[in-house]
Amino acid sequence: MTKISTNSLEPAPTEPDQNCPLCPRLAAFRAEARTRQPTWHNAPVASFGDPNARVLIVGLAPGLQGANRTGRPFTGDYAGDLLYSTLLDYGFAKGKYQARPDDGLTLVDCRISNAVRCVPPQNKPLPAEINTCRTFLAATMATMPKVNSIVLLGRIAHDSTVKALGLKAKDAPFAHGAVHKAGNFRLYDSYHCSRYNTNTGVLTPKMFRDVFARVRTDLG
Ligand code: SF4
Repeated sequence: MTKISTNSLEPAPTEPDQNCPLCPRLAAFRAEARTRQPTWHNAPVASFGDPNARVLIVGLAPGLQGANRTGRPFTGDYAGDLLYSTLLDYGFAKGKYQARPDDGLTLVDCRISNAVRCVPPQNKPLPAEINTCRTFLAATMATMPKVNSIVLLGRIAHDSTVKALGLKAKDAPFAHGAVHKAGNFRLYDSYHCSRYNTNTGVLTPKMFRDVFARVRTDLG
């Protein structure tokens, strides 16, 4: 079993300031978006769900017209359609997903966060931005006392979470469907549920659902 260094999980704020300046390129992109779309969220997107949940889902970053627009992770774009319908099917959400933060949907034993909290141009954060924002990801994990299952959507979310846990990449290489045991955690890898991945057949809805079926089975 892999031992986790807890030194990397030092107390820190779990949510950045809405004007977080730590990534100048992303702060400038955010400012530009505020000018263009003043009614959108255009700020770091906070985690969604219960801090006492056992399951944490880590995505890449807010989508420009999804979470960056609505202010709730995975809400308002295709990735959210697939994610929330899957969560509803496996009992990790209840209510009706209507692609709006006020749709009344709640997560059950589940929380959703992102490796990078601000929307990056072309959905591509730079390595330095991923490293900087890991502070908030690590703090989020450190303040979830019951979390034992982490679903990692895509390689960037995987790699950043593995680093936040103090593991080496070779101890837990990313592969769709892989499950890595890491101390008290199980890490579940999935390709990201983006429209691009589903349109190109990299990820089918069944492949995605199978990941959550496995999480549900393992939770008992
Ligand atoms: S990505 Fe994270 S660290 Fe960078 S500016 Fe946004 S909130 Fe701050």
